[in-house]
Amino acid sequence: MVKLDGKVAIVTGGSRGIGAAIAKELAANGAKVVINYNSSSEAAEQVVSEIEAAGGQAFASQADVSDSKHARVLVEDAINKYGQLDILVNNAGITRDRTFRKLSEEDWKKVIDVNLNSIFNMTSAALAHIQASETGRIINISSIIGQAGGFGQTNYSAAKAGMIGFTKSLALELARTGVTVNAICPGFIETEMVTAIPEEIREQIVAKIPVRRFGKPEEIARGVIYLCQDGAYITGQELNINGGMYM
Ligand code: NAD
Repeated sequence: MVKLDGKVAIVTGGSRGIGAAIAKELAANGAKVVINYNSSSEAAEQVVSEIEAAGGQAFASQADVSDSKHARVLVEDAINKYGQLDILVNNAGITRDRTFRKLSEEDWKKVIDVNLNSIFNMTSAALAHIQASETGRIINISSIIGQAGGFGQTNYSAAKAGMIGFTKSLALELARTGVTVNAICPGFIETEMVTAIPEEIREQIVAKIPVRRFGKPEEIARGVIYLCQDGAYITGQELNINGGMYM
């Protein structure tokens, strides 16, 4: 098992939801964590405070990861502060759900930019540093929607499926270097992304989940820790944490 003491991680979109849970769990296991946020500096600072109060180390760094220049500055920030980078968690994501007939070019591009182009931006900026680590890890937070599709989600589904293809190809290219690249595909997890869904639709979704409940952000975070600590022989995989909703 790889101890995370002394390891440095960046979590994109780490100010709330799944990203905040991942950041806290990484810090609780000894990693120093860079919590990236785009607009919610207060929420990001709150996550930093919680980590510090629990005896961990973290700092918040603003960057719009859909912009390659911002991504480079974010990685530089991590290196300047902590001197190394071992773990990259590409978690930032958005939805702009519309049926295809109503989907604008802007809805398409924005969702591809934030969910998919961001992982190119971040990985390009971070890779040389991660390869210098003996236990480099790249973990992409994809989605069940990238595997199974979703009504009104052509843009999001394409972006999340693209993340899975990216994960497998990069895993092949990096396998000999000791860096593993994996995707986690959450089902429906209780965060603002899911609480924004109308109650009636939420009830319909729960009825389709074999374990009959939404997942918790912490359950995704435990998957990240598993891949970081025990994942040396796991690469190019989709780790499905979805209550049995997609098999
Ligand atoms: P969320 O909306 O609570 O969090 C998303 C985070 O990404 C926020 O902190 C947001 O500020 C950040 N972000 C958005 N655009 C950004 C940008 N341009 N640059 C930097 N940060 C940006 O959602 P969540 O549910 O916590 O989702 C986290 C990830 O998990 C997303 O990639 C999402 O697609 C994925 N996911 C979520 C669910 C779910 O059910 N909640 C299911 C499958 C996958």
